[in-house]
Amino acid sequence: KRLTAAEIRQMYLDFFVEKGHMIEPSAPLVPIDDNTLLWINSGVATLKKYFDGRVIPDNPRITNAQKSIRTNDIENVGFTARHHTFFEMLGNFSIGDYFKKEAVAFAWEFLTSEKWMAMDPEKLYVTIHPEDTEAYEIWINDIGLTDDRITRIEGNFWDIGEGPSGPNTEIFYDRGEAYGKNDPAEEMYPGGENERYLEIWNLVFSEFNHNPDHTYSPLPKQNIDTGMGLERMASVSQNVRTNYDTDLFMPIIQETEHLSGKSYGTDPDMDVAFKVIADHIRTVAFAIGDGALPSNEGRGYVLRRLLRRAVRFAQKLDINEPFMYNLVDIVAAIMKPYYPSVEEQKDFIGRVIKSEEDRFHETLEEGLVHFNRLKESADAELRGEDVFKLYDTFGFPVELTEELAEENGLKVDHAGFEKAMEEQRTRARESRQKIQSMQVQNETLANIKTPSVFVGYETLETTTVLE
Ligand code: ATP
Ligand code: MG
Ligand code: MG
Ligand code: MG
Repeated sequence: KRLTAAEIRQMYLDFFVEKGHMIEPSAPLVPIDDNTLLWINSGVATLKKYFDGRVIPDNPRITNAQKSIRTNDIENVGFTARHHTFFEMLGNFSIGDYFKKEAVAFAWEFLTSEKWMAMDPEKLYVTIHPEDTEAYEIWINDIGLTDDRITRIEGNFWDIGEGPSGPNTEIFYDRGEAYGKNDPAEEMYPGGENERYLEIWNLVFSEFNHNPDHTYSPLPKQNIDTGMGLERMASVSQNVRTNYDTDLFMPIIQETEHLSGKSYGTDPDMDVAFKVIADHIRTVAFAIGDGALPSNEGRGYVLRRLLRRAVRFAQKLDINEPFMYNLVDIVAAIMKPYYPSVEEQKDFIGRVIKSEEDRFHETLEEGLVHFNRLKESADAELRGEDVFKLYDTFGFPVELTEELAEENGLKVDHAGFEKAMEEQRTRARESRQKIQSMQVQNETLANIKTPSVFVGYETLETTTVLE
């Protein structure tokens, strides 16, 4: 069934409301009262309060469409069909209510029923944990899958250390031979790096407590936590090669074509650039809209790194001046029906992006010249102090230098870079201490009683006043 991304999002929520769930609104990307996470990176991340029992939900069945940021996928972006740094996760959750049987049945109904996604059941494959015989039997007996469509994966166990944990089952869509070889087990793993069997949905069955002594005991109440990638579902529904070819991204790509005068789909290197730009502008616009700002550490550094990565890729489209800020309007327009935050703040977001682009452009050209010189003289590895200079003087995030180095077959001396960084931190600390001690002196001066400070004047003019 051919649907827009907005229709899929709505259909997902409608389906689970029909199954007795309540809708939880999408939370901001910057976590609220959770300092264990840099960004909200999944639907469940905003619902921890229900999973760990701090808050009892009004309804134990919850569904959401949650904006998410994942930094572990940055290097994939532009190169795989399916990875983004910003994406939407559609999820359904059971807090001690339904469990495996219902979760699997819901997923199957949503995907295959004519009324909902109407996907061809013959194209769906699943993975399970090898010891999860319960899940295996549900897939075989309740759903009617044949054994050859089920792959056992040791890694299908959701475990973040102490706390709830459990096996998961993932649903893959076979996009057909045009995308690769024919063996699902081989194609799906290791690393999940394939373009043919696309992972669309992950169902986590949290049924154990991971104890402090690393044993596992059954949880008194079992939970369900699922996540489906909206962009991936859109690519399947719209029958396009990559997530970028869906209605969520194409308007951004078209705007970039317009700005660059280059065409998408004519050259593989340029396509990577179009994708990187379209991905990164969404992330940066949404993150700024949710309160983050570019800076040199933490969340701000991620934004800086993404913007600078996009600016560098834009050079492949012969764009050599600030331009990303021009894409904020189109991001706002695509997303505003469900996420008005970018629309509401688009002028501010555009200004922040523009000034960050301006800053990087001031040093980018020189930095690249410098890099090229280093490249000529380097043997196989860029020295740490050179990487540091690119960072410190030319504003190249170290990951950017790494990518450049890799493109040129060079390695990067990480330890050397870290050492140079540490030396700079020490210098900064020392100079801060100096400034502080100067401030103390100033304070001392300021506290000195006025009469004695002005003694000079007074003595000159009215010598006798002070006496
Ligand atoms: P993959 O193996 O493809 O990297 P994953 O197993 O890391 O995905 P999960 O943590 O299971 O992903 O997240 C649940 C769902 O969210 C995935 O099945 C997928 O549809 C979607 N998803 C995960 N990461 C991304 C991403 N970087 N960009 C877009 N969608 C994603
Ligand atoms: Mg992943
Ligand atoms: Mg996976
Ligand atoms: Mg997964």
